Amino acid sequence: MPAKKNAPEPLSPETVTEHDLVFDCPECKKLLVIDERAADLKINCPLCGKEIQVPQQVHVTQAIEHHDAATGAEKRDLLQKQIAENRMQYTEAMNKWHDHVTQANRLKVRIQKLDQDHEKMEEQLKKIGK
Ligand SMILES: [Zn+2]
Repeated sequence: MPAKKNAPEPLSPETVTEHDLVFDCPECKKLLVIDERAADLKINCPLCGKEIQVPQQVHVTQAIEHHDAATGAEKRDLLQKQIAENRMQYTEAMNKWHDHVTQANRLKVRIQKLDQDHEKMEEQLKKIGK
């Protein structure tokens, strides 16, 4: 896990994570990134030094897409990073799903076995009679 951003930084596609807020400094209009826990806090912009308020959650992609100042290269880097993150989460989810399916299959076999045993025992009980 990358170090948590306690202070705002200029946007960098290498370090931005899903847990970061990306927003424009209202004073100098530059893109900034900060850990999401800083939402609503008053901070000083690292670029212009003015005191600004961190907005509530802004999705990283949304912020980038709607920011004219972000260059094509910046947008591409960020998208590539998000695609990589998406694939990682996909693999993780698939592995978890696979584990659950394996476990579910084992339980299904066990349930069938218990049911078969139950039928056999009921038959034996009938043979013995009252
Ligand atoms: Zn600023």
